[in-house]
Amino acid sequence: MEPRITGHTELIGLIATPIRHSSSPKMHNAAFAKLGLDYAYLAFEVGNEQLEDTIKGFRAMNVRGCNVSMPNKTVVHKYLDKLSPAAELCGAVNTIVNDNGVLTGHITDGVGFMTSVADAGFDPIGKKVTIVGCGGAGTAIQIQAALDGVAELAIFNIQDACFERAKQTVKDINEKTNCKATLYDLADTEELRKQMADSYMFINATGVGMKPLEGQTYIKDASMLRPELIVCDVVYSPAKTALLELAESVGCPTLNGLGMMLFQGAAAFKLWTGQEMPIDHIKEVLNLK
Ligand code: NAD
Repeated sequence: MEPRITGHTELIGLIATPIRHSSSPKMHNAAFAKLGLDYAYLAFEVGNEQLEDTIKGFRAMNVRGCNVSMPNKTVVHKYLDKLSPAAELCGAVNTIVNDNGVLTGHITDGVGFMTSVADAGFDPIGKKVTIVGCGGAGTAIQIQAALDGVAELAIFNIQDACFERAKQTVKDINEKTNCKATLYDLADTEELRKQMADSYMFINATGVGMKPLEGQTYIKDASMLRPELIVCDVVYSPAKTALLELAESVGCPTLNGLGMMLFQGAAAFKLWTGQEMPIDHIKEVLNLK
């Protein structure tokens, strides 16, 4: 047994499926060890069917909290006591904090993305951003970008359930923030070209580019990109998606989803422990330097 784990050690979980590939256990356990915090972080293969029982079990065992990933992010709120304002607006939870039996759902994906952008030296505040994807990750980024002061969001999605939900997100952003948001159909390639042409940054917030859609991008034409456009992908496995390869070939600065993964974790870590994650150390542990 690892010597730092004792009868006092508190559990923090990660509930998702599939989950065995996740870097989160490595990240959080390295941070606990570095700061001498008495927690252990473990991943549990949990889908929607086991979710209610899992949360009940966490309550019964007074687990400090957990991370939540697919397919549970948009379902788990049903079993919680409270939601943060951002989780409420996003309709998704990726972090649960247990304060003496009161379970609060938070979403740290948006903060994670915006922090990773700043950490990479980019500054979209007061500027226009085009983003594709209105699922959990895309919505969290849109809300946080609007709250942080991005001036304009051109939002694209395919015509699925996420498109319908995005109409409410756009309404909320326009009513509650100073950001101007507009929703477009991703099938309208000429509109996408037009919106990208005067954007500071372009973000892929869909799973296009990772398995089972690895090697794919909906940007079929390199002329939609220009060397000044910053191109970001929330996907981090592979580290270089087809979109980022295309963007690099044009000379665009690029950013993959590894920084978002790191900083969403750092925000969750702060919620559970009250302490800053030792970012430089964790970048070394995860080979992000
Ligand atoms: P989700 O299922 O909630 O949303 C999926 C989104 O992709 C929706 O907007 C959907 O309309 C769109 N989409 C699906 N198929 C498409 C297609 N063929 N063409 C265009 N759009 C399509 O998923 P999510 O939780 O938002 O995750 C999206 C991606 O973000 C995943 O790849 C996930 O791994 C990644 N992610 C990364 C981080 C990170 O920390 N880097 C965090 C969360 C999610």
